[in-house]
Amino acid sequence: MRASVYHDVNDFRVENVETPVIGFGEVLLKLKACGVCGTDIHKAIHKTVNPKTILGHEYAGEIVKVGEGVTKFEIGDRVVGAIHVPCFTCHYCQRQQYTLCPEFKETNIDPGGFTQYIRLSERHVRHLLFIIPDTLSYLHASLAEPVACCIHGQKAANIRPGDNVLIMGAGPIGLIHGQLLKHKGVSNVIISDISAYKLSKAKEFGIDYAVNIKHESLKDVVDKVTNNKGVDTVIISAGVSSLLPEAVQLLRRGGRVICFSPFDKNPEVKIDAGRFFKDEISIVGTYSVSPYEFDEAILHISNGTIDAEKMITHEMTIDQVGEAITFAASPDEEVIKVVIID
Ligand SMILES: [Zn+2]
Ligand SMILES: [Zn+2]
Repeated sequence: MRASVYHDVNDFRVENVETPVIGFGEVLLKLKACGVCGTDIHKAIHKTVNPKTILGHEYAGEIVKVGEGVTKFEIGDRVVGAIHVPCFTCHYCQRQQYTLCPEFKETNIDPGGFTQYIRLSERHVRHLLFIIPDTLSYLHASLAEPVACCIHGQKAANIRPGDNVLIMGAGPIGLIHGQLLKHKGVSNVIISDISAYKLSKAKEFGIDYAVNIKHESLKDVVDKVTNNKGVDTVIISAGVSSLLPEAVQLLRRGGRVICFSPFDKNPEVKIDAGRFFKDEISIVGTYSVSPYEFDEAILHISNGTIDAEKMITHEMTIDQVGEAITFAASPDEEVIKVVIID
């Protein structure tokens, strides 16, 4: 089968690789759509994965083979799922911190989403595969994983109707957060970015204030919107660690920052730690997704809470994965979500 194989920055090659063979309890999926995620971009550009890796994990596809013992699914089923599965029994899993499970990152789809077929392990099949409703296309269903990640992230903040929430970063993740927050009844959603295009899209998604930090002071907007109180929650959805000190500064007393992005580059920052005790602020991190957010994500896409049509701005093919990653990573391009289709 054909696969787009990562070798280095700007070096993806389409190669012929073995089609995976399935065993007991496993299924073979023919990929129909696989989204390019911010983490794929991060891995490719910052070289956090080994050469010869096949990236891509936001998959939607059709089951074309089922292994012995599979009873939940049959050939022809249209499904979405995730990449990692927790063990459900370790110290972390017992405390519902599934994404911290030591086995979580050991479990993978085989070989990766930017290819034609993937093998899903018995554990994936048992816990992590979800049927796509008939009314939903594969293309739109491929948003299930990032939407589920955002639902998972928002669980870390006790967001209420009437709140004021700031999202730093208007990429796909920031825009999904914005749509979920408006659906939750958040009064004022403020989003910040440096891309005029992404900010104009934010307005189309019903986000109340779109602030271009190249031209406007974010603090002034937050002060005005919240009557100088500060926002209830800040969600950082851009991989820029220097946003954290600013986020801490823009919180109301008792507010919370959700770090929803890798800060591997320059991870050390200075924050006003005096605010923890005096103002009871908190900073929490959130990573990936558990098996318990998918049903809700699929529902939000099929009922239009998430406007998939507007979110997916580009469709490209397996031959164009390298190009797609460079394109999606460029702040100057008019792009939100790129999905690889075959
Ligand atoms: Zn993703
Ligand atoms: Zn576990």
